[in-house]
Amino acid sequence: MSLVGTKEMLKKAQKEKYAIGAFNANNMEIIQAIVEASEEEKSPVIIQASQGAIKYAGLDMIVAMVKVIAEKSRIPIALHLDHGTDYFQNILCLRAGFTSLMYDGSALPFDENVAMTKKVVEMAHVCGIPVEAEIGQVGKMDSSDEPGVAREKIKEFMAKPEDAEKFAQLTQVDILAPAVGTIHGCREPIAKLDITRIEKIRDLTGLPLVLHGASGASDEELRKGIAAGICKVNIDTRIRMAFTNKIRQYLNEHPEEIDPRKALNPAKAAAKEIIKGRIKILGSTGKA
Ligand SMILES: [Zn+2]
Repeated sequence: MSLVGTKEMLKKAQKEKYAIGAFNANNMEIIQAIVEASEEEKSPVIIQASQGAIKYAGLDMIVAMVKVIAEKSRIPIALHLDHGTDYFQNILCLRAGFTSLMYDGSALPFDENVAMTKKVVEMAHVCGIPVEAEIGQVGKMDSSDEPGVAREKIKEFMAKPEDAEKFAQLTQVDILAPAVGTIHGCREPIAKLDITRIEKIRDLTGLPLVLHGASGASDEELRKGIAAGICKVNIDTRIRMAFTNKIRQYLNEHPEEIDPRKALNPAKAAAKEIIKGRIKILGSTGKA
């Protein structure tokens, strides 16, 4: 089928209290792994591309790969821009065929984040495309950070529920990503979600909420977050780890091999296993 938007799929998830996985795609093999895993789980899915992925693969190439695979598939697939920190990047993605956008103005002062998000929302809504925005700052873990440092970074930048309410009203954004206890790039499940904060933001905004940095959350934390109002869960680091570790292992074991497919096939299978496991935890199995 054709690509779908994220609004309907997230509204349904919100009503039935499960979450949709938003998996980051960087290359063909990972896109195939995402779709094959979702098909086997009969789950709707969001394939998302960051600005880094777009720079790596090319905007048209990502759209073409995702469109081709979606047309052959029977599950609902959305193509979402992850962390579009640039207004023009959002326009280019909309024009290229993305069915869901994110404007990330979390590094800006509150009023500027509101003004820019509003601009993107107005532009996207003309075309019937939903927009996600970030409030508070999820932040990024440096590879040298100890878990204690990560925890301090997380605490400092959590979203304030009253800011989230004001932000949602002023921008008319469709999907909200509040910083609620996770950090990007975390390889261990050390995150502690602020469940009361998630519930308050859910009640004040009524919007489907997104958890970024979810690779750092344990299954138990994810379940609690989803019960509190998380409807979209972003997964990137866990896929990267599974995919790259498998390539490394294969090449170490077969130093003479020159066919890249020999290393990429097991890597794709490892990514697919991770994605299937995440879908089961998120509760979207059978919801396609
Ligand atoms: Zn993120």
